[in-house]
Amino acid sequence: MSGDYGFDTLQVHAGARPDPATGARQVPIYQTTAYVFRDADHAAALFNLQEVGYIYSRLTNPTVAALQERVATLEGGAGAVCCSSGHAAQIMALFPLMGPGCNVVVSTRLYGGSVTQFSQTIRRFGWEARFVDIDDAGAINAAIDAQTRAIFCESIANPGGHIADLDALARLANAAGLPLIVDNTSATPYLCRPIEHGATLVVHSMTKYLTGNGTVTGGCVVDSGRFDWSASDKFPSLSAPEPAYHGLKFHETFGPLAFTFHGIAVGLRDLGMTLNPQAAHYTLMGIETLSLRMARHCENAVKVATWLEKHPAVARVTYAGLPSSPCHDRLARICPKGAGGLFTFALKGGYEACVRFVDALNLFSHVANLGDTRSLVIHSASTTHRQLTPEQQTAAGAGPEVVRLSIGIEDADDLIADLEQALAVATA
Ligand SMILES: *Cc1c(COP(=O)(O)O)cnc(C)c1O
Repeated sequence: MSGDYGFDTLQVHAGARPDPATGARQVPIYQTTAYVFRDADHAAALFNLQEVGYIYSRLTNPTVAALQERVATLEGGAGAVCCSSGHAAQIMALFPLMGPGCNVVVSTRLYGGSVTQFSQTIRRFGWEARFVDIDDAGAINAAIDAQTRAIFCESIANPGGHIADLDALARLANAAGLPLIVDNTSATPYLCRPIEHGATLVVHSMTKYLTGNGTVTGGCVVDSGRFDWSASDKFPSLSAPEPAYHGLKFHETFGPLAFTFHGIAVGLRDLGMTLNPQAAHYTLMGIETLSLRMARHCENAVKVATWLEKHPAVARVTYAGLPSSPCHDRLARICPKGAGGLFTFALKGGYEACVRFVDALNLFSHVANLGDTRSLVIHSASTTHRQLTPEQQTAAGAGPEVVRLSIGIEDADDLIADLEQALAVATA
């Protein structure tokens, strides 16, 4: 669908058209594993990637394809690959770039599960993650060597709310001949469009704001289509002959869609981290109201954060939407429509007060999730960031005295009243 339409139009229409078979207006859930080939020649052409079409739902499915086109359009990318979770998306993003002995330079300010995935699990593949302060260009450059294949950060970091200077990072990555990968989960393309700032790949946990109501797990990798994979010999999966496809070269053959085709034809085919059509349908429905929800999430978060910052039991609030935030001056450039619905605050009473506070809340749900229409709370140090060392917790903005809030779309006054009574219990 044409990029001439505005965001609110595209979030409803991109990727979707009335079903050619039935005229169904909403995107049908194509609950099928396989697709009938016209004849043997058609089947052969599909398997050789000479013709694009549907073979088997581990690779492609029309409901999932509609969602891929919608997310790619909203991010301003050339193509997208959906997969079964945000964590799957991170592996799918790295898989074509990395090989044994390769490394990725990553921000210390990441979702706790990502810190664990990068610091522990990817080592089993022979990959290494080098953690750096993503605001420190000197540290990033020092970490990059001949085996580096990407730089990875979050646009608005979960949970600390830190906003990455994507323009500066893209310049740095470009100078080193590396792709910049941005996890845009907390911001969504409504608040931030990393590709416009020079990012090569954008990854999402669609589990969060894109679906928006806590119903599915899903992930997505969007490719800008702008990276020259053949400029060096660092990315042979995309630039060199692929033995599993009779020596086909993805970049030479598919140009700006090389990464997307590789993600489907090799990544999903062989890693199998596929999104199911039912989940894709829920996410398509969620995205239809993305801008409306994000605007309310932001409006409520500013009200709640402003109120919390003045509360005597609160040591600090880290929300880029507050003028007190060190990231506030990046907001207009990186996230012009707001800082999102996610932030943390520190209680003067430390760990014990945090635990009492979380238990005393009524309207906020204590869950390991974010980006729901409902307001959610979690004490990261005892849950999502529990596997991290105290140093990693603090670097990620999730120290023992810190509580994370995901502000929903309820009445802000009701949320503040709930926080007020829980803070009274926590400090009694
Ligand atoms: C939740 C989350 C992930 C992981 O996504 P899943 O869908 O839970 O696998 C990755 N990055 C960020 C920023 C997240 O919030």
